[in-house]
Amino acid sequence: MDQALKHELRSQGVIATTLEELYNWGRRSSIWPLNFGLACCAIEMIATTMARYDLARFGAEVFRPSPRQADLMIVAGTITKKMAPQVVRLYNQMPEPKYVISMGACAISGGPFKQGYNVLKGIDRYIPVDIYIPGCPPRPEALLEGFMALQRKIDEQALTGAGRARHLNADLPSEFV
Ligand code: SF4
Repeated sequence: MDQALKHELRSQGVIATTLEELYNWGRRSSIWPLNFGLACCAIEMIATTMARYDLARFGAEVFRPSPRQADLMIVAGTITKKMAPQVVRLYNQMPEPKYVISMGACAISGGPFKQGYNVLKGIDRYIPVDIYIPGCPPRPEALLEGFMALQRKIDEQALTGAGRARHLNADLPSEFV
């Protein structure tokens, strides 16, 4: 629907929308992150949920302990090669539609440990990442900014067709098992 017409209708007290917009609004306003952290970046993720930064403003304060109940994985911390299969397994256990935020230098590229033999050089080698948040560690404001970027991405998604939100399950990195 034309945006100008929408604003005109809204000024007259009429709200016009589509099923897709309504669905995306519900989805973006109730993202449930998976409750897990891998290293120091997770401390900043936890701080983001506390009263000072208040992630609850965006409907995302309900961190779920089960991947079956979560639709957002925030990969926050160093991913050792021993841990990588577990991260991929958790990702595969999350239902569609699901999203991934790669938080911090370690999750993006291995960070300060990227020369090490035991650290993954970025989780996006194994699972699709929607939003990257650089920093070591990124501050809670950066995570909030990344979260809002994810919400904007969800706003653009279609229910069907090519624009449909879809992450295929990833292969377990068997070389690390
Ligand atoms: Fe820790 Fe920095 Fe790695 Fe985050 S990016 S887990 S703060 S070393």
